[in-house]
Amino acid sequence: MSDETFDKQDGNSELWGTIFGPGGHPALTTMHRRYKFLPAKPRCRLCRVPFGSFGGWLMGRRGKAPCKRNPHFCSACDQFIDANPGGAEVDMSVLYVDIRNSVRTAAASETAAVAQRVNQFLSTATSIITDNDGFIMAFYGDCVVAVWPPGFAGPDHRQKAVRAAKALSAAFGPDSAIPSGTGVHSGPVYICTVEAGAGMFRDMSIFGHTVNVTARLASEAPAGQALASEAVAAHLGAEFSAQDLKGIDSPIMATTI
Ligand SMILES: [Zn+2]
Repeated sequence: MSDETFDKQDGNSELWGTIFGPGGHPALTTMHRRYKFLPAKPRCRLCRVPFGSFGGWLMGRRGKAPCKRNPHFCSACDQFIDANPGGAEVDMSVLYVDIRNSVRTAAASETAAVAQRVNQFLSTATSIITDNDGFIMAFYGDCVVAVWPPGFAGPDHRQKAVRAAKALSAAFGPDSAIPSGTGVHSGPVYICTVEAGAGMFRDMSIFGHTVNVTARLASEAPAGQALASEAVAAHLGAEFSAQDLKGIDSPIMATTI
């Protein structure tokens, strides 16, 4: 993603390829299975240890608390990311969703009402994505970016990403108070650690053509609907038509869901 405050990092490609690629890393997939049954959200982005509710309290007592400098990760995963900077190219599904007409609505609303509306959207969208095994990558204003790496979401990552896109269209449809626009696509993605402030802060990010196409599909999606590419949604057996996307050289076959 094009967040200029972060520098993309390379290296440890075998390790990151194992973590996010088909099959996943055995240590991490064991943790995912174990923590799945402990309530509750939010969770560490990498190992999925719960931070909230009873599970969070229990795991906090075992030293698995949110890291202070990077609360999206537990302290153990933050140290792991710090010790193993780098990334790998992995075939995965990607989803972008944002609020439609947010500039126009914001201009006509109180600041507090705008913040409340955005928070409500982000919280529901996050739940829909994580309930469908998606990995939240970033929040940009009122936009949520998520990925389904096979190492996390399994071999049926495309079906899960499409299911999430459909659920987002159902929750934030054309007639809802907060109509959204979603793009969902799949293909090779460079997923890696990024650093800012000369190594003071590390996070994970995604780069590449697949990511840019997904962002464009989201911005072209009709209000309250999702544009799904044929690469991710071929299993629907829908009719796909060529979409010319701004800044993308060749048309992308996509359908509205
Ligand atoms: Zn963790």
